[in-house]
Amino acid sequence: MAFDYDLFVIGGGSGGVRAGRVAAETGAKVALAEEYRMGGTCVIRGCVPKKLMVFASGYSGAMQDAHEYGWSVKAGVFDWSKFRTRLHGELDRLENIYRTNLARPGVDIYDQRAVLQDAHTVQLADGQTFTAKHILVATGGYPFVPDTVPGHELAWTSNDVFLMEDLPKKVLIVGGGYIACEFACILNGLGVGVTQYYRGAQVLRGFDDEARGHIAEMMMRQGVELHVGTDVERLEKRGAGIWVKATDGREAEFDAVIYATGRKPNSAGLGLEEAGVKLGRFGQIEVDDYSQTSVPSIFAVGDVTDRVNLTPVAIREGAAFVETVFKGNPTKPDHSLIPSAVFTQPEYGSVGMTEEAARDERPIEVYSAAFRPMQNSFIGKDERVLFKLIVCTQTRKIIGAHIIAPGAGEMIQMVGIAVKMGATKEDFDQTVAVHPTMSEEIVLMKAPVRTA
Ligand code: NDP
Repeated sequence: MAFDYDLFVIGGGSGGVRAGRVAAETGAKVALAEEYRMGGTCVIRGCVPKKLMVFASGYSGAMQDAHEYGWSVKAGVFDWSKFRTRLHGELDRLENIYRTNLARPGVDIYDQRAVLQDAHTVQLADGQTFTAKHILVATGGYPFVPDTVPGHELAWTSNDVFLMEDLPKKVLIVGGGYIACEFACILNGLGVGVTQYYRGAQVLRGFDDEARGHIAEMMMRQGVELHVGTDVERLEKRGAGIWVKATDGREAEFDAVIYATGRKPNSAGLGLEEAGVKLGRFGQIEVDDYSQTSVPSIFAVGDVTDRVNLTPVAIREGAAFVETVFKGNPTKPDHSLIPSAVFTQPEYGSVGMTEEAARDERPIEVYSAAFRPMQNSFIGKDERVLFKLIVCTQTRKIIGAHIIAPGAGEMIQMVGIAVKMGATKEDFDQTVAVHPTMSEEIVLMKAPVRTA
């Protein structure tokens, strides 16, 4: 049977664009449909604008530190509108690069929604239909706001933050995950009064407990008013603000309430189930190790599959799909030992296991050092960094590394290579320290602080 395309990709985010481009470079005839903006969550309303906001917010602390170091610095005032204009200019530039990278190898781009008609047919919003030998669904995820909370429709999500006209004076952030903690730090750094409610006992559930405590303490020290064991009971519009009643009885008014209560796979209304594609409980597309769905011609990568929801992972999954389907080289994306960073201030980079997960599995040694780095102690700034290694007692391999420090995202990328290669504690010990740095601590921790 002749098809219009060898591959039709639905979704122009990190995973879809990589797969579409690389497949086209093999000579395949490829189309890609995107209903919003090319680049997806990462480029348009996620990692990239978030990181630029992290940079912007970091200058307030830097100015205070500069003053302590002897500079005469006038208290800065942040101009959101100036930053926002530049931010959106940058996003436009990046979107164009994505578009050009697809067009160069000959991918046909359709700027509209596409849904499945059957195992080999895609229908566009304007009614056109195309057949394809393979279809790749890479539609990502969307922010989830619990609709059980009265007044929930008043809340913003992270999507809205990048578009806001003015910087609010006082915000409430709900949630304790990546996005909640990152935005709490960003907005606090930009001069916004930030309150954060998290329903659990400590933020960043799933991360190393010692690191979670350290981050929470640093966030509060910087001025984030964090309330754990607290959730929203009700939201009401009161004048220009939003009145919030919390589950602990607390009442307060905010200019904006931002829900960062997780993301859900973007799989509804795509004709997936009608085409025979199996979805999981949370709407995630179920795939095998090669990203193939229950319909052999349909594959899925990225957040819509809810495996490891990170941009570089979606890109790897997209590339592995092309290796498997278009290059005759069956390749499973490797989901083990993925380094990642939470861009709080200071940042938290981690790779491998938490102390809690590791000690349930095998005997371990824990090496940990929390201290004020030279740059802070010089000016009496009480911000501490944390370096922590989890070592398997039997194999001596580093099975977990956790760093909280300015630049921890950069550091964990390097540590991640060593951990992925199977480095032992002794390999770290034999590496000469780079002095004077904070990160030299990672090769200088001689005795375990505890064993388990
Ligand atoms: P997370 O899953 O990290 O956190 C969701 C938070 O919302 C948790 O604290 C959760 O609480 C809370 N929550 C969930 N449901 C409710 C509810 N009904 N009421 C109150 N609180 C609730 O999601 P995020 O949205 O922060 O991030 C989504 C994903 O995006 C991440 O998992 C990550 O993969 C990715 N991401 C990665 C980043 C990075 O690499 N730097 C940055 C941003 C996002 P509880 O813990 O109790 O379940």
